[in-house]
Amino acid sequence: MQTDTKILAHEFEYLTPNTLNEALDMLDRYQDKNAKILAGGTDLLVKMKTINLKPDYIINIKNIQEINFITYNDDGLKIGAVTSLSQVEKSKEVKAKYSALYEAIKSMAAIAVRNMGTIAGNLCNASPAADTAPPLIAYGAEVKLANKRGERAVPVEEFLTGPGKTVISSNELLTQLNIPVLDENTGSSFLKIGRVKADIAKINIAVYLERKNNVCKSCKIVFGSVAKTPIRVKGAEDILRGQQLTSDVLTKVAEKASEEIKPITDIRSTAEYRHEIAKVMVEKAVNLAWERAGD
Ligand SMILES: Cc1cc2nc3c(=O)[nH]c(=O)nc-3n(C[C@H](O)[C@H](O)[C@H](O)COP(=O)(O)OP(=O)(O)OC[C@H]3O[C@@H](n4cnc5c(N)ncnc54)[C@H](O)[C@@H]3O)c2cc1C
Repeated sequence: MQTDTKILAHEFEYLTPNTLNEALDMLDRYQDKNAKILAGGTDLLVKMKTINLKPDYIINIKNIQEINFITYNDDGLKIGAVTSLSQVEKSKEVKAKYSALYEAIKSMAAIAVRNMGTIAGNLCNASPAADTAPPLIAYGAEVKLANKRGERAVPVEEFLTGPGKTVISSNELLTQLNIPVLDENTGSSFLKIGRVKADIAKINIAVYLERKNNVCKSCKIVFGSVAKTPIRVKGAEDILRGQQLTSDVLTKVAEKASEEIKPITDIRSTAEYRHEIAKVMVEKAVNLAWERAGD
Protein backbone atom coordinates (compact mmCIF):
# COMPACT_ATOMS: atom_id res chain seq x y z
CA MET A 1 0.00 0.00 0.00
CA GLN A 2 1.33 3.44 -0.91
CA THR A 3 1.13 5.56 2.23
CA ASP A 4 3.34 8.50 1.20
CA THR A 5 3.35 10.02 4.69
CA LYS A 6 6.96 11.31 4.56
CA ILE A 7 7.30 10.51 8.29
CA LEU A 8 8.37 7.37 10.12
CA ALA A 9 5.08 6.63 11.81
CA HIS A 10 5.66 3.17 13.22
CA GLU A 11 7.80 2.09 16.17
CA PHE A 12 10.88 -0.08 15.86
CA GLU A 13 13.89 -0.97 17.94
CA TYR A 14 17.03 0.88 16.84
CA LEU A 15 20.33 -0.96 17.28
CA THR A 16 23.79 0.58 16.80
CA PRO A 17 26.60 -1.99 16.76
CA ASN A 18 30.14 -0.55 16.96
CA THR A 19 31.97 -3.62 15.69
CA LEU A 20 31.43 -6.15 12.92
CA ASN A 21 31.12 -8.97 15.47
CA GLU A 22 28.40 -7.10 17.33
CA ALA A 23 26.51 -6.54 14.08
CA LEU A 24 26.80 -10.22 13.08
CA ASP A 25 25.62 -11.27 16.57
CA MET A 26 22.59 -9.01 16.21
CA LEU A 27 21.82 -10.32 12.72
CA ASP A 28 22.01 -13.86 14.08
CA ARG A 29 19.67 -13.00 16.96
CA TYR A 30 17.13 -11.07 14.90
CA GLN A 31 17.31 -12.95 11.57
CA ASP A 32 13.71 -14.23 11.87
CA LYS A 33 12.39 -11.05 13.50
CA ASN A 34 11.83 -8.62 10.65
CA ALA A 35 15.15 -6.82 11.07
CA LYS A 36 16.66 -4.48 8.46
CA ILE A 37 20.20 -3.20 8.06
CA LEU A 38 20.58 0.56 7.75
CA ALA A 39 23.66 1.94 5.97
CA GLY A 40 23.12 5.39 4.40
CA GLY A 41 19.34 4.97 4.57
CA THR A 42 18.79 6.67 1.21
CA ASP A 43 16.75 3.70 -0.05
CA LEU A 44 15.60 2.13 3.21
CA LEU A 45 14.19 5.26 4.86
CA VAL A 46 12.44 6.31 1.66
CA LYS A 47 10.73 2.92 1.54
CA MET A 48 9.78 3.15 5.21
CA LYS A 49 8.23 6.56 4.61
CA THR A 50 6.48 5.92 1.32
CA ILE A 51 5.89 2.19 1.02
CA ASN A 52 4.47 -0.07 3.64
CA LEU A 53 7.88 -1.29 4.87
CA LYS A 54 7.77 -1.67 8.65
CA PRO A 55 10.81 -3.37 10.13
CA ASP A 56 10.67 -4.21 13.86
CA TYR A 57 14.44 -3.87 14.28
CA ILE A 58 16.83 -1.50 12.51
CA ILE A 59 20.52 -2.33 12.74
CA ASN A 60 22.51 0.80 11.88
CA ILE A 61 25.95 -0.31 10.68
CA LYS A 62 27.30 3.17 9.84
CA ASN A 63 29.40 3.41 13.04
CA ILE A 64 31.43 0.28 12.29
CA GLN A 65 34.87 1.62 11.43
CA GLU A 66 36.25 -1.81 10.38
CA ILE A 67 34.06 -1.68 7.26
CA ASN A 68 34.71 1.97 6.45
CA PHE A 69 37.69 1.92 4.08
CA ILE A 70 38.84 2.15 0.51
CA THR A 71 42.22 0.67 -0.46
CA TYR A 72 44.06 -0.02 -3.69
CA ASN A 73 47.09 -2.31 -4.16
CA ASP A 74 48.29 -5.29 -6.27
CA ASP A 75 45.22 -7.16 -5.08
CA GLY A 76 42.85 -4.57 -6.55
CA LEU A 77 40.37 -2.08 -5.18
CA LYS A 78 38.62 -2.92 -1.91
CA ILE A 79 35.69 -0.91 -0.60
CA GLY A 80 34.09 -1.37 2.82
CA ALA A 81 30.33 -1.68 3.21
CA VAL A 82 29.79 1.66 4.93
CA THR A 83 32.20 3.67 2.78
CA SER A 84 30.09 6.42 1.27
CA LEU A 85 29.63 6.94 -2.46
CA SER A 86 31.36 10.33 -2.02
CA GLN A 87 34.43 8.69 -0.48
CA VAL A 88 34.67 6.37 -3.49
CA GLU A 89 34.16 9.26 -5.91
CA LYS A 90 37.05 11.15 -4.26
CA SER A 91 39.52 8.25 -4.59
CA LYS A 92 42.21 9.15 -7.14
CA GLU A 93 42.60 5.48 -8.13
CA VAL A 94 38.90 5.16 -8.86
CA LYS A 95 38.96 8.27 -11.02
CA ALA A 96 42.13 7.27 -12.87
CA LYS A 97 41.62 3.52 -13.30
CA TYR A 98 37.95 2.64 -12.81
CA SER A 99 36.32 5.23 -15.10
CA ALA A 100 32.99 3.42 -15.43
CA LEU A 101 32.52 3.18 -11.66
CA TYR A 102 33.56 6.82 -11.23
CA GLU A 103 31.12 7.96 -13.91
CA ALA A 104 28.32 5.82 -12.47
CA ILE A 105 28.73 7.33 -9.01
CA LYS A 106 28.97 10.86 -10.42
CA SER A 107 25.65 10.27 -12.21
CA MET A 108 23.86 9.31 -9.00
CA ALA A 109 21.56 11.65 -7.12
CA ALA A 110 23.03 14.81 -5.57
CA ILE A 111 26.05 15.28 -3.31
CA ALA A 112 23.96 15.06 -0.12
CA VAL A 113 22.66 11.62 -1.12
CA ARG A 114 26.12 10.46 -2.19
CA ASN A 115 27.51 11.59 1.19
CA MET A 116 25.09 9.21 2.92
CA GLY A 117 24.61 6.37 0.41
CA THR A 118 26.90 3.38 -0.09
CA ILE A 119 27.71 0.98 -2.93
CA ALA A 120 26.74 -1.92 -0.65
CA GLY A 121 23.32 -0.32 -0.14
CA ASN A 122 22.94 0.27 -3.87
CA LEU A 123 23.62 -3.43 -4.53
CA CYS A 124 21.56 -4.83 -1.63
CA ASN A 125 18.59 -2.67 -2.60
CA ALA A 126 18.80 -4.58 -5.90
CA SER A 127 17.03 -2.13 -8.17
CA PRO A 128 17.36 -3.18 -11.84
CA ALA A 129 18.39 0.47 -12.41
CA ALA A 130 21.13 0.56 -9.72
CA ASP A 131 23.92 2.59 -11.27
CA THR A 132 26.91 0.94 -9.60
CA ALA A 133 25.90 -2.58 -10.65
CA PRO A 134 26.76 -2.47 -14.40
CA PRO A 135 30.36 -1.24 -13.91
CA LEU A 136 30.94 -3.72 -11.08
CA ILE A 137 29.68 -6.60 -13.23
CA ALA A 138 31.80 -5.37 -16.14
CA TYR A 139 34.92 -5.38 -13.94
CA GLY A 140 34.17 -8.87 -12.57
CA ALA A 141 33.84 -7.53 -9.02
CA GLU A 142 32.72 -9.68 -6.11
CA VAL A 143 31.05 -9.02 -2.77
CA LYS A 144 32.07 -10.53 0.54
CA LEU A 145 29.14 -11.75 2.64
CA ALA A 146 29.67 -12.59 6.32
CA ASN A 147 27.62 -14.17 9.07
CA LYS A 148 28.52 -15.28 12.59
CA ARG A 149 29.92 -18.57 11.30
CA GLY A 150 32.08 -17.43 8.38
CA GLU A 151 32.15 -15.62 5.07
CA ARG A 152 31.77 -16.26 1.34
CA ALA A 153 32.56 -14.36 -1.84
CA VAL A 154 29.95 -13.95 -4.57
CA PRO A 155 30.46 -12.32 -7.99
CA VAL A 156 28.22 -9.24 -8.33
CA GLU A 157 26.88 -10.84 -11.52
CA GLU A 158 25.42 -13.68 -9.41
CA PHE A 159 24.51 -11.57 -6.38
CA LEU A 160 21.52 -9.84 -7.96
CA THR A 161 18.62 -12.21 -8.71
CA GLY A 162 15.60 -9.97 -9.35
CA PRO A 163 14.01 -6.62 -8.47
CA GLY A 164 14.72 -6.20 -4.73
CA LYS A 165 16.21 -9.70 -4.59
CA THR A 166 19.75 -10.93 -3.95
CA VAL A 167 21.39 -14.14 -2.74
CA ILE A 168 22.09 -12.64 0.70
CA SER A 169 20.59 -14.50 3.68
CA SER A 170 18.83 -12.75 6.54
CA ASN A 171 21.76 -13.44 8.89
CA GLU A 172 24.38 -12.12 6.46
CA LEU A 173 26.00 -8.73 6.03
CA LEU A 174 27.70 -7.53 2.88
CA THR A 175 31.01 -6.43 4.39
CA GLN A 176 33.23 -5.60 1.45
CA LEU A 177 33.48 -5.20 -2.27
CA ASN A 178 36.53 -6.47 -4.21
CA ILE A 179 37.31 -5.16 -7.68
CA PRO A 180 40.24 -6.77 -9.53
CA VAL A 181 43.28 -4.89 -10.80
CA LEU A 182 42.62 -3.97 -14.41
CA ASP A 183 45.13 -5.07 -17.04
CA GLU A 184 47.17 -2.74 -19.23
CA ASN A 185 45.41 -1.58 -22.38
CA THR A 186 41.97 -1.79 -20.86
CA GLY A 187 39.33 0.91 -20.73
CA SER A 188 35.85 1.33 -19.33
CA SER A 189 32.92 3.69 -19.65
CA PHE A 190 29.47 4.28 -18.19
CA LEU A 191 26.53 6.12 -19.74
CA LYS A 192 23.07 6.77 -18.38
CA ILE A 193 19.85 8.26 -19.64
CA GLY A 194 17.44 9.65 -17.08
CA ARG A 195 14.49 12.02 -17.21
CA VAL A 196 16.56 14.76 -15.59
CA LYS A 197 20.16 14.92 -14.41
CA ALA A 198 20.94 12.72 -11.39
CA ASP A 199 17.74 10.74 -11.76
CA ILE A 200 17.19 6.99 -11.61
CA ALA A 201 18.17 5.51 -15.00
CA LYS A 202 15.72 4.92 -17.80
CA ILE A 203 18.61 2.85 -19.07
CA ASN A 204 22.31 2.67 -18.24
CA ILE A 205 25.31 0.85 -19.66
CA ALA A 206 28.87 -0.03 -18.64
CA VAL A 207 31.53 -1.32 -21.02
CA TYR A 208 34.90 -2.76 -20.11
CA LEU A 209 37.28 -3.95 -22.80
CA GLU A 210 40.86 -4.94 -23.46
CA ARG A 211 42.50 -3.65 -26.67
CA LYS A 212 45.61 -5.32 -28.04
CA ASN A 213 47.23 -4.81 -31.47
CA ASN A 214 44.19 -2.72 -32.30
CA VAL A 215 41.85 -5.67 -31.72
CA CYS A 216 39.33 -6.14 -28.93
CA LYS A 217 40.82 -9.03 -26.94
CA SER A 218 38.06 -9.25 -24.33
CA CYS A 219 35.01 -7.24 -23.38
CA LYS A 220 31.94 -7.02 -21.19
CA ILE A 221 28.87 -4.96 -22.05
CA VAL A 222 26.36 -4.59 -19.21
CA PHE A 223 22.98 -2.84 -19.26
CA GLY A 224 20.81 -1.71 -16.37
CA SER A 225 17.08 -1.00 -16.33
CA VAL A 226 16.33 -3.28 -19.28
CA ALA A 227 15.58 -6.57 -17.48
CA LYS A 228 14.85 -7.89 -13.97
CA THR A 229 18.51 -7.49 -13.08
CA PRO A 230 21.41 -5.71 -14.76
CA ILE A 231 22.42 -7.98 -17.67
CA ARG A 232 25.36 -8.70 -19.89
CA VAL A 233 24.63 -8.84 -23.62
CA LYS A 234 26.86 -11.80 -24.33
CA GLY A 235 25.93 -12.19 -28.00
CA ALA A 236 27.04 -8.59 -28.63
CA GLU A 237 30.24 -9.22 -26.65
CA ASP A 238 30.93 -12.27 -28.87
CA ILE A 239 30.63 -10.13 -32.00
CA LEU A 240 33.09 -7.53 -30.67
CA ARG A 241 35.69 -9.96 -29.27
CA GLY A 242 38.60 -10.54 -31.67
CA GLN A 243 37.61 -7.66 -33.96
CA GLN A 244 38.94 -4.24 -34.89
CA LEU A 245 36.51 -1.48 -34.05
CA THR A 246 35.16 -0.61 -37.50
CA SER A 247 31.82 1.12 -37.92
CA ASP A 248 30.44 -2.09 -39.45
CA VAL A 249 31.40 -4.14 -36.39
CA LEU A 250 30.05 -1.49 -34.06
CA THR A 251 26.69 -1.44 -35.87
CA LYS A 252 26.41 -5.24 -35.57
CA VAL A 253 27.32 -5.13 -31.87
CA ALA A 254 24.70 -2.43 -31.25
CA GLU A 255 21.97 -4.30 -33.18
CA LYS A 256 22.68 -7.52 -31.33
CA ALA A 257 22.70 -5.78 -27.93
CA SER A 258 19.33 -4.20 -28.67
CA GLU A 259 17.92 -7.64 -29.54
CA GLU A 260 19.25 -9.19 -26.33
CA ILE A 261 17.83 -6.75 -23.79
CA LYS A 262 14.33 -7.35 -22.38
CA PRO A 263 13.02 -3.94 -21.31
CA ILE A 264 9.48 -3.24 -20.15
CA THR A 265 7.36 -0.12 -20.46
CA ASP A 266 7.08 1.57 -17.06
CA ILE A 267 6.74 5.05 -15.55
CA ARG A 268 10.24 6.03 -16.68
CA SER A 269 10.23 4.95 -20.31
CA THR A 270 8.85 2.64 -22.97
CA ALA A 271 10.29 -0.67 -24.08
CA GLU A 272 10.52 0.68 -27.65
CA TYR A 273 12.57 3.70 -26.60
CA ARG A 274 14.90 1.54 -24.53
CA HIS A 275 15.50 -0.83 -27.47
CA GLU A 276 16.30 2.09 -29.80
CA ILE A 277 18.47 4.14 -27.47
CA ALA A 278 20.39 1.02 -26.40
CA LYS A 279 21.97 0.91 -29.88
CA VAL A 280 23.20 4.51 -29.61
CA MET A 281 24.50 3.89 -26.10
CA VAL A 282 26.43 0.77 -27.11
CA GLU A 283 28.15 2.66 -29.94
CA LYS A 284 29.10 5.59 -27.69
CA ALA A 285 30.14 3.53 -24.67
CA VAL A 286 32.22 1.04 -26.67
CA ASN A 287 33.95 3.88 -28.55
CA LEU A 288 34.78 5.63 -25.29
CA ALA A 289 36.15 2.49 -23.62
CA TRP A 290 38.13 1.72 -26.80
CA GLU A 291 39.76 5.18 -26.80
CA ARG A 292 40.56 4.88 -23.10
CA ALA A 293 42.13 1.47 -23.61
CA GLY A 294 44.70 3.01 -25.99
CA ASP A 295 47.00 0.46 -27.58
C1 LIG B 1 17.01 11.56 -4.13
C2 LIG B 1 17.60 10.20 -4.43
C3 LIG B 1 18.23 10.00 -5.64
C4 LIG B 1 18.77 8.75 -5.95
N1 LIG B 1 19.40 8.60 -7.15
C5 LIG B 1 19.93 7.39 -7.47
C6 LIG B 1 20.58 7.22 -8.73
O1 LIG B 1 20.73 8.14 -9.54
N2 LIG B 1 21.05 5.98 -9.01
C7 LIG B 1 20.94 4.93 -8.15
O2 LIG B 1 21.42 3.83 -8.47
N3 LIG B 1 20.36 5.09 -6.94
C8 LIG B 1 19.84 6.28 -6.59
N4 LIG B 1 19.22 6.45 -5.37
C9 LIG B 1 19.08 5.30 -4.46
C10 LIG B 1 20.15 5.24 -3.32
O3 LIG B 1 20.69 6.49 -3.03
C11 LIG B 1 21.27 4.26 -3.64
O4 LIG B 1 20.75 3.00 -3.97
C12 LIG B 1 22.28 4.14 -2.48
O5 LIG B 1 23.49 3.63 -2.98
C13 LIG B 1 21.77 3.25 -1.35
O6 LIG B 1 22.77 3.14 -0.35
P1 LIG B 1 22.43 3.33 1.20
O7 LIG B 1 23.69 3.11 1.94
O8 LIG B 1 21.72 4.58 1.46
O9 LIG B 1 21.43 2.08 1.42
P2 LIG B 1 20.31 1.87 2.54
O10 LIG B 1 19.11 2.66 2.23
O11 LIG B 1 20.89 2.03 3.91
O12 LIG B 1 20.02 0.33 2.30
C14 LIG B 1 19.44 -0.14 1.11
C15 LIG B 1 19.08 -1.63 1.26
O13 LIG B 1 20.27 -2.41 1.38
C16 LIG B 1 20.32 -3.08 2.65
N5 LIG B 1 21.74 -2.97 3.06
C17 LIG B 1 22.47 -1.83 3.10
N6 LIG B 1 23.75 -2.12 3.40
C18 LIG B 1 23.82 -3.47 3.56
C19 LIG B 1 24.89 -4.36 3.88
N7 LIG B 1 26.14 -3.94 4.09
N8 LIG B 1 24.61 -5.68 3.96
C20 LIG B 1 23.35 -6.13 3.73
N9 LIG B 1 22.29 -5.34 3.44
C21 LIG B 1 22.54 -4.01 3.35
C22 LIG B 1 19.33 -2.35 3.55
O14 LIG B 1 18.79 -3.20 4.54
C23 LIG B 1 18.28 -1.92 2.53
O15 LIG B 1 17.41 -2.99 2.26
C24 LIG B 1 18.67 7.67 -5.02
C25 LIG B 1 18.05 7.89 -3.79
C26 LIG B 1 17.52 9.13 -3.49
C27 LIG B 1 16.87 9.34 -2.15
